[in-house]
Amino acid sequence: MPRRRELGRGERVIAGLWRLRLPLPFPGVPHCNAWAVAADGGIVLVDTGMHEPGSMTELERAFDQVGLSFEQVRLVVCTHAHTDHWGQAATICDRTGCEMWMHPNHEHGFAGAADPDVALARRLEIGRQCGVPESALARYAEQAKGGPSGIARVIEPDRELVAGVSIKTDLGAWTVLETPGHAPSHVCLFQAERRLLISGDHVLGRISLYFDYGWTPDPIGEFLSSLDAVDELDARLALSGHGKPFLEVHGHVEGNRGLVGERLDATLAAVAERPRTALEVAPAVHGGPLTEANAGWWLSETLCYLRHLELAGLIASESDRGVERWAAALSPSRTKP
Ligand SMILES: [Zn+2]
Ligand SMILES: [Zn+2]
Repeated sequence: MPRRRELGRGERVIAGLWRLRLPLPFPGVPHCNAWAVAADGGIVLVDTGMHEPGSMTELERAFDQVGLSFEQVRLVVCTHAHTDHWGQAATICDRTGCEMWMHPNHEHGFAGAADPDVALARRLEIGRQCGVPESALARYAEQAKGGPSGIARVIEPDRELVAGVSIKTDLGAWTVLETPGHAPSHVCLFQAERRLLISGDHVLGRISLYFDYGWTPDPIGEFLSSLDAVDELDARLALSGHGKPFLEVHGHVEGNRGLVGERLDATLAAVAERPRTALEVAPAVHGGPLTEANAGWWLSETLCYLRHLELAGLIASESDRGVERWAAALSPSRTKP
């Protein structure tokens, strides 16, 4: 029986700020949030939801519930270039004539949307390096081909969302904080007087780690620095890309640091005895078996831990017929001169 879909829902968080909860087709991630902020008789829309059949109707339904409409959208701002955060940007901009702002490091999201075949080939090559058997890669490729992209159309941002840019609203100005790690293009928005943080997927109410692999040298290092940057803001209320608004932002930052630390330790322990592939390390890091549903997510994340430990000089990799194996690095005292 097909899973019953959620419907778009709108709710007021505080005067002048609304949560638009939009359905997603992913098992385990049933919805994402867009945020509307009152601005000069209209609204600034932060994030857009994913593009798929009927998705604009769900956004419209959410707007309706809080007395808003597309005609009020003056600006679309995207926290990062994942489909659930910018997929509908083109449709909304077409309909309203407004601008879209995003961080310039959006290649990780734009490349897949512009050329799905190249993006798939890249994922398969990474899978091969991880030690995934060819038969499993072939099954994955079959399922991925012709699947929905989640993006209405690729549009270039009208303005680069970088540090120093501010977004004017009736709640005051929101400043941009560059927070790479979850994705290279990730930013958070902070309203200092009210201590409000639009945290995207950088800090979520229910801690869940995801990292784009292969676009920057060290997503884990970037993520940890971005956590420090957010912690310094002393935000009171976080409005994240998924789930309800939450308080205790510092506690959530700490929770993320703790989980990354645990998984780095587990990664190190997994390669201590003999060289292992990412495919062998991932179940130890996550405390469960790899499945077709979690493999893409878990392998990218595991590769990010492995790279981070490699950059720290704690482990090293060797490639054998295209498959990469990782092992504890020889300590300098044991290395021959
Ligand atoms: Zn994301
Ligand atoms: Zn998301």
